[in-house]
Amino acid sequence: MGKLMDETGEIGIRYLGVARQATFADVVDENGWKIRSRGHRSFPNTYEKINAFTFPTPQAGADIALWRYNQDEYKESFCSASTWNQLRSKKERVTWRKLVWFSQAVPHHSFMAWLTFRNRLSTGDRMRLWGITQGCTLCGEVNETREHLYFACPFSFMIWLNTAGQLIGEGITPDWDDTIVSLLQPGRTRLDSILVRMAFQTVVYTIWRERNSRRHRGDAYSYY
Ligand SMILES: [Zn+2]
Repeated sequence: MGKLMDETGEIGIRYLGVARQATFADVVDENGWKIRSRGHRSFPNTYEKINAFTFPTPQAGADIALWRYNQDEYKESFCSASTWNQLRSKKERVTWRKLVWFSQAVPHHSFMAWLTFRNRLSTGDRMRLWGITQGCTLCGEVNETREHLYFACPFSFMIWLNTAGQLIGEGITPDWDDTIVSLLQPGRTRLDSILVRMAFQTVVYTIWRERNSRRHRGDAYSYY
């Protein structure tokens, strides 16, 4: 239940006759819990909850450590999923989740797509905050942003168009927000829906890799 102090405050531990620094061993003996019955008047719920609880005895064996599965469930084995669910703060589901996580996806590409959706790639606009100047290494545009790379950049858009143009059809666009809409468009067959998402992730990944290798080679857009 947690600390008695948190449940009742200073006054409660006095009514119940439990010393401030008391441990479990101090408040139990072979007859049961050593709490004062007059605590019942002021803290009936706490008093009854404690007394309803089986008190520890040497016959019951040694203490063991248990993992909490949820609010009231404890087990001996560890479960990363239930631990994570207790630690994390849940947020609204994002509309683009199906464009990032799906069973056929290449994990490495999924991760890159996730970074891209979160706008966490170190694009020029973000590098500027760290005092580094970086234009688009693919076309020379001064202001390199996520929206530029996907797919306002003429170089990227040609790759995107050639890869997914047939699958997406008329809806293919250089605009980032409209691209998400076009990818989430309902009415595709299951296979097309998988293909279009794989194509998207592969292009996002490949363009980012190409952008980086040009940046490291220092031959930005030299082919133009
Ligand atoms: Zn560009």
